[in-house]
Amino acid sequence: MARTYRLGRREDAVRRTRTAILSAARELLVSGTPKLSAGAVAARAGVSRITVYNQFGSKAGLLRELAGGVRRGVPPPPAALDDPRDELRQRILESCSMWSSDAALFRRLPALDVEMESPNEDRALADRTSREVDIVAMVEQLPSPENRVVPDYDRRDALGIPRPRITYSIDDYSKKALDHGRRIAKEIGAALKVTEMHHGETIEAAGHVIGTYRMGLDPRRSVVDPDQRAHDHPNLFLLGSGVFPTSAASNPTLTIAALALRSVSAIRRAAGN
Ligand SMILES: Cc1cc2nc3c(=O)[nH]c(=O)nc-3n(C[C@H](O)[C@H](O)[C@H](O)COP(=O)(O)OP(=O)(O)OC[C@H]3O[C@@H](n4cnc5c(N)ncnc54)[C@H](O)[C@@H]3O)c2cc1C
Repeated sequence: MARTYRLGRREDAVRRTRTAILSAARELLVSGTPKLSAGAVAARAGVSRITVYNQFGSKAGLLRELAGGVRRGVPPPPAALDDPRDELRQRILESCSMWSSDAALFRRLPALDVEMESPNEDRALADRTSREVDIVAMVEQLPSPENRVVPDYDRRDALGIPRPRITYSIDDYSKKALDHGRRIAKEIGAALKVTEMHHGETIEAAGHVIGTYRMGLDPRRSVVDPDQRAHDHPNLFLLGSGVFPTSAASNPTLTIAALALRSVSAIRRAAGN
């Protein structure tokens, strides 16, 4: 059984040793040492290698603590802001201020992470990718009667079931939102003082296949009611992401699950349970 004991007066000495190890690791990192080893850190801090492991568990633990220490020095974020744009701006500023509070360290940390996870990876690739940031704008799409999936009776699968005929285009609302996302990405790039910036030209899907038998109160404008029950057929429930009236930019699956639970209650009520 593990024994717990109090450090008592040794606590100060342990804290000093810990601080000395962290300072040594930071100095070695920012000096551009090609490979950070526990032995080198220990020698610089004037402690044994085993002390480094006792304090931090592993080299990864030491690096995590190093990064965590900087993060803890950055003031905590204010309470959630009402306007999502203010919230986004706030988060960008926080990330930038954390990064710039010890840029020399953060420039080196990610490359070492990659190195630890896959030591055989090409060093140059690790160096480059560790300084790359991908920013993706995910935007909402409004319902459009032109965007639809209908059975194609002229084209059938091996079972004779009509294949889907899909009509789909991206409207100005979504294009404007993507342009806005691009402007924000530029702002982020400028705040991070990036040296190279590339904008992807293609619009890619997030995999959220949504809509077609959409939900609504008006049977003329929707297929299912809020319980996902078909307006036309009271004993037919159509569950899944097809009921979404707009395509969300955020992940839909928890909402799909919550709606399924609501349908279960409606089905139980209808069955008299
Ligand atoms: C690459 C990718 C990544 C995604 N990542 C996320 C994510 O991180 N978070 C998130 O929230 N969402 C994510 N999504 C979206 C999420 O997977 C879907 O929104 C969700 O699975 C839709 O649930 P559903 O029940 O409507 O449809 P589905 O999960 O597609 O289920 C439909 C089921 O019906 C079956 N089926 C189809 N036709 C027939 C038939 N004729 N007879 C019998 N069975 C049939 C299919 O085999 C399937 O099992 C992702 C989607 C993709 C493609």
